[in-house]
Amino acid sequence: MSLPDRHNPYNFDEFLQWRKNANYYDDDPFFRQVLRRYTGKDFPVVDAEAKKIAPKVSYRWRDMADSAARPEERPYVLHYDGHHNRIDRIVRPVEVEIMEREIFSEALFARHSSKWIRPMKMFLIYQNGEACISCPITCTEGLVALLEQHADTPELRRILEHCRDGIDGEYAIGAQYLSEIQGGSDVPSNLLEAVPDGLHYRLYGTKFFCSATHADYAVVTAKPTGAEKVGLFVVPSWLPGNREREIRNGYTIDRIKWKMGTSELTTGELTFNGAVAYPVGPLERGLANVVSIVLTYSRITVGISAAAFMTRAVREAKQYSRMRSAFGLTIANFPMVTNQIEAMERTARRTTAGSFRLYRDFLETQGAEAGDDASRRRKFNTRELIMLQKITAAYDSTDVLRAAMSIFGGHGVMEDFSSLPRLYRDSAVNELWEGPRNVLLAQIHRDLQKASSWYPPANFVQEILKGSDKDTVARLAAELVEIVSHPSLFNPDATTREICARWDNLCGELTHAYQDAAAAEASDSIS
Ligand SMILES: Cc1cc2nc3c(=O)[nH]c(=O)nc-3n(C[C@H](O)[C@H](O)[C@H](O)COP(=O)(O)OP(=O)(O)OC[C@H]3O[C@@H](n4cnc5c(N)ncnc54)[C@H](O)[C@@H]3O)c2cc1C
Repeated sequence: MSLPDRHNPYNFDEFLQWRKNANYYDDDPFFRQVLRRYTGKDFPVVDAEAKKIAPKVSYRWRDMADSAARPEERPYVLHYDGHHNRIDRIVRPVEVEIMEREIFSEALFARHSSKWIRPMKMFLIYQNGEACISCPITCTEGLVALLEQHADTPELRRILEHCRDGIDGEYAIGAQYLSEIQGGSDVPSNLLEAVPDGLHYRLYGTKFFCSATHADYAVVTAKPTGAEKVGLFVVPSWLPGNREREIRNGYTIDRIKWKMGTSELTTGELTFNGAVAYPVGPLERGLANVVSIVLTYSRITVGISAAAFMTRAVREAKQYSRMRSAFGLTIANFPMVTNQIEAMERTARRTTAGSFRLYRDFLETQGAEAGDDASRRRKFNTRELIMLQKITAAYDSTDVLRAAMSIFGGHGVMEDFSSLPRLYRDSAVNELWEGPRNVLLAQIHRDLQKASSWYPPANFVQEILKGSDKDTVARLAAELVEIVSHPSLFNPDATTREICARWDNLCGELTHAYQDAAAAEASDSIS
């Protein structure tokens, strides 16, 4: 029975009190199981580090990320100072600058006692969404990995030191500028020109999607004069001594894009007019290096961040459903809601377990020579799984976020009720950058075709799904064999369209089977 009450006492205090104290690590037994399963002997040190960072990320940085997301806090570019000097200063809220300093001071890229500390911290930090932190972290990670292999000049070695170990306690931030106006997926069609100038190059032309525009250094793709192949360069945002004077290194930030997601991070349109650029690695290997090193890290990050977004969303939606009631029932008890939460939780868990299992495979195969057939296959498996995970986790994350928001009813879309709308918008960006779905689907198909002479597609399925249900493996293997035997996904005919639809679906199924096996493995580790 419900009688009128003009002093409606309803409030959300119970939920808010719970949320205020939710600790991303202590309150997540599943994540601890995943770490225990995949970090092996490193678990005690990773666990200790996780306990140390968890209060900062769960409370202090969480609040800073939320407050920086308010529309009036949006970053912008200040083109000129008061004396008509072109400065192109990226203006960000002070809490972002403080949070960035604190997070980068975690020395994420330094050589730690365990290689697992970094992905553990990333998973926790990414639960706060982009916040002008996630993209710069992974860009810096890619830049450091690139330079660890190719820093062969004093300039590049200093940049590596600045990003990895810090100089005078300050850690530099990286960015990556590949995409141009005529096509982001098609990097070989880049037009930015790199003109030789003594020991380095100078860049002329434009880039159209430049995130982390505030960064200290960017990995940039450009074509050396007269060359058809894309080379790879590292470009300082300011030449030594010019940062304090705000004199940028021969380029202008023409405009900051107005984006739906990752809004706390600027994405700029740039014109280069003689920027000094240091070549990295053999120039004719530029595309191979950017894909195999820089984009590999960014794609792994999409997997980990999708898992992190979903984990946070499910945790909050689940708790809300236990506190909210409708028609006299706690909403968690409506069978429809129970099913929805279970499905979301399953997706969040399998994505989390899958991303850490894949990180283990990545660590084990990274840098290793292809060597014998078995290690060549493992390397190939990891490469393909990173792309499979990128597209699947990004899609799942958007679906789970939308479903989690719906548990909050109308409050689900209120930007100041929870962080879920922001995570949802960030999730949509994860689908697009670092290789959109179709591009990666086409790439995986091509890779499997090329490898089929030494690695039959059926064996690929058997290897990546070792330990999975036999019937599932046989069904997916048969489907893969048929699809890979289709010569090209680019013929505009009815058969190719049907194959493309099956391929799209199969890639999701393969990834989910891999992730399910990981989730089962992680759950087993405590039984
Ligand atoms: C918020 C945001 C920030 C970004 N930041 C950066 C950044 O910092 N640095 C950077 O370099 N880039 C950045 N990007 C760019 C991003 O990587 C590109 O948007 C992406 O590579 C796609 O390029 P495009 O937008 O030109 O789309 P297009 O390449 O024009 O693609 C359009 C459509 O065609 C499809 N398509 C293309 N090729 C194929 C194919 N072979 N087979 C089938 N379908 C195909 C695509 O899947 C897509 O659906 C950012 C993008 C966003 C949204």
